[in-house]
Amino acid sequence: MCGIVGYIGTRKASPILINGLLRLEYRGYDSAGIATLEDEGLTVMKDKGRVKNLYNIPGIDDLKGTIGIAHTRWATHGKPSKENSHPHVDNSKSFSVVHNGIIENYNELRKFLTDKGYKFYSQTDTEVIPNLIHYYYNKDTKNDDMKLLRAVNKACKDLKGSFAVEVISKYDKEHMVVVRKDSPLVIGKGDGENYISSDIPAILSFTKDFYLLNDLEFALLSRDDIKFYDIDLNPVEKRVQVIEWDAASAEKEGYEDYMLKEIHEQPTAIRETIGAKLNEGSKCDFDELKFTKEYLQGVNKIYLVACGTAMHAGLAGKVMLEKLCKIPTEVDIASEFRYRDPIIDDKTLCIFISQSGETADTIAALKLSREKKARTLAITNVIGSSITREADYSIYTHAGPEIAVASTKAYTSQVVLLALLTIYFAETLGVSKKEVEDLKKEIIELPKKVEEVLKTDEQVREFGHRIYQEKDVFFLGRGIDETVARESALKLKEISYIHADSYPAGELKHGPIALIENGITVISIMTDPKLVEKTVSNIQEVITRGAKTLVVTNQKVDDKMFDTVVHIPETSPFVSPILSVIPLQLLSYYISKEKGLDVDKPRNLAKSVTVE
Ligand code: GLU
Repeated sequence: MCGIVGYIGTRKASPILINGLLRLEYRGYDSAGIATLEDEGLTVMKDKGRVKNLYNIPGIDDLKGTIGIAHTRWATHGKPSKENSHPHVDNSKSFSVVHNGIIENYNELRKFLTDKGYKFYSQTDTEVIPNLIHYYYNKDTKNDDMKLLRAVNKACKDLKGSFAVEVISKYDKEHMVVVRKDSPLVIGKGDGENYISSDIPAILSFTKDFYLLNDLEFALLSRDDIKFYDIDLNPVEKRVQVIEWDAASAEKEGYEDYMLKEIHEQPTAIRETIGAKLNEGSKCDFDELKFTKEYLQGVNKIYLVACGTAMHAGLAGKVMLEKLCKIPTEVDIASEFRYRDPIIDDKTLCIFISQSGETADTIAALKLSREKKARTLAITNVIGSSITREADYSIYTHAGPEIAVASTKAYTSQVVLLALLTIYFAETLGVSKKEVEDLKKEIIELPKKVEEVLKTDEQVREFGHRIYQEKDVFFLGRGIDETVARESALKLKEISYIHADSYPAGELKHGPIALIENGITVISIMTDPKLVEKTVSNIQEVITRGAKTLVVTNQKVDDKMFDTVVHIPETSPFVSPILSVIPLQLLSYYISKEKGLDVDKPRNLAKSVTVE
């Protein structure tokens, strides 16, 4: 997935580019590189590994160019290496390109270019792009300001797949060309200078004025101007959007890591996601949604489709939607859904959840649902993200930028938003009135209760200290607690590299109990009064076999039975994941720290998965 940055202005480009890349490292960190236009022509500096390695490249401080492009890579084609690093150049070293995405027909294009005498020096799919641009540029006999744009446009018409691309050329020291299709790219407008980035926070310290490109739109940037074009190079009008995020909110604010900061931001994230939607005595209000009672009564099924942590939020959503709205609801993993020919028609409502709004599989699943005539609704944290441009409706979590790869505040905000959506549907349908009123009260109390739960930090840290060297950890729960078990196991795997599995507690005796032996750690969540005794019995079974146990609960349990009991405030079982997940987020965090790992950038993972 990778991050891209661009600058065109009057200042030295290189420090601005590196600054932007450092903020985009969550998108990938296999290699990094920059290309600038210097007096003597195009200069490319790149290396394997982290962005900070760029500082070690001899001569990087001497770059003076005021136009440049930059890239931090998450490899898809070709191993992480210097030659596969971006920026890539054409054979004549006249055009330089950075690319986020996958060129699906790159083999075909390589053959086309090889037959014309072009050579390839990397294993990437990307390298065809600068060479195609060179090919079309040379065929164009007209010499004007649009020549680079025309060549990029022609090259893009040959590309299949996804791409956010920035192009500079030694033949045109006044312009930069960018285009996107199914990969993110934003343009920041400055005063006599302009910026490009894969996301808004990376350049928010430079400008608050942004243009968002739609699929297959091109921008021709100069220092003082930005012109937009469609695929046929017809001019397109665009409005600046002013982004009100505070740049500081994208920084660490004194916390050691982004993940810890983001865990502690949950009261605010939840409060802001609730926003003005819930007010005592009035109905839950979503301005953006126009669902009628007749439409909802006719819905035959709701699908909640997502990947990873967002899918776990969907599991909590299913419990709420089925219990309160009585609409059959299925949760699906986007990469499975899109290939299994799901039964969908115009009476199906498909809801897609993606923090970044750029998750490739989720967007593909959305497009499929739309083709099958379903109504589509996107839940995302990023305004203007790709998913919002594809869906019939979009609603937003207001968690603010989430930088740590392991999702925390986005998850709890997604569960809150799903609870609000459930209430909105139930109120529109006129069903489950008493339960809905109770749930509304509980939701309003949540931010305060989250603050309470954060105080369990020390107790959790101690337990983490006891188990950080373990090889396996098991998580158990029933009902909605099982969805938290899944999310907690994923979190532990992601950042501590400890093998973690989760099971519905009742399933234990159907197989997994064979893995329980003396000293193994079993963590359970118990928040549903109707199920707590059943889960306690299951935990008793593992204690008998020598397990160490941690229990997260808001019920009365016999504390002496377990090694550690983390007590959290009571709330409605529908939204209990928002509270019960927090001690387990902290547990993963502290275990990762004890192991000396990079909490914010776990190995092999990237923040938004914009490839299939
Ligand atoms: N496909 C390109 C590469 O492997 C870009 C990678 C990406 O965007 O993830 O270099």
